[in-house]
Amino acid sequence: MFGTIHELLRNLFKKPMTVRFPLESIPIPEGYRGEHSFEIDKCMSCGLCSRVCPNRAIELVEVQKKDKEKYPKTYPRIDLGKCCFCGLCEDICPTGALKLTKNFFLSTFDSKSVIKEPIKDENLA
Ligand code: SF4
Ligand code: SF4
Repeated sequence: MFGTIHELLRNLFKKPMTVRFPLESIPIPEGYRGEHSFEIDKCMSCGLCSRVCPNRAIELVEVQKKDKEKYPKTYPRIDLGKCCFCGLCEDICPTGALKLTKNFFLSTFDSKSVIKEPIKDENLA
C-alpha cells in the first residue's frame, strides 16, 4: 500500500511522458521516413524506383496535357496507401529526385488524396 502511494505521489509531480499533440509535438528524428518529396526536374524517368518498390506503390505515368511539352517522359506516381515507407525508392534513385521527408501527417478520409501525382494538380489543392 505504501509503495503504491509513494509511486502515485512520485508520478503526480513528475513531467509527463506524453505531449499534448497536436498542440505540442516531439522533434522528429533524422532519418525518419515519411511522405515522399519528388523533384520532377531531377528525374530521368529511369523507372528504378518503381522496379525496386516491394509494394508496387510506384507507377510511372505521363503528366497532364498542359505540362507534357515540358515533361514529355513518364514519372513516378506514388500510392501512399500501398507504401510501407521502406525507403528503397530513395536509396536507388540515381539523381536524388525522390526523397522521404519527415512529414507523418498522412491520415485522411479521402482515399484519392493518398495518390501523389508527379505534378500536383493545383485544382485539387
Ligand atoms: S518507400 Fe518503399 S514501399 Fe514506399 S514507395 Fe518507396 S519503395 Fe515503395
Ligand atoms: S524518381 Fe529517381 S529512380 Fe524514379 S524514375 Fe526518377 S530518376 Fe529514376
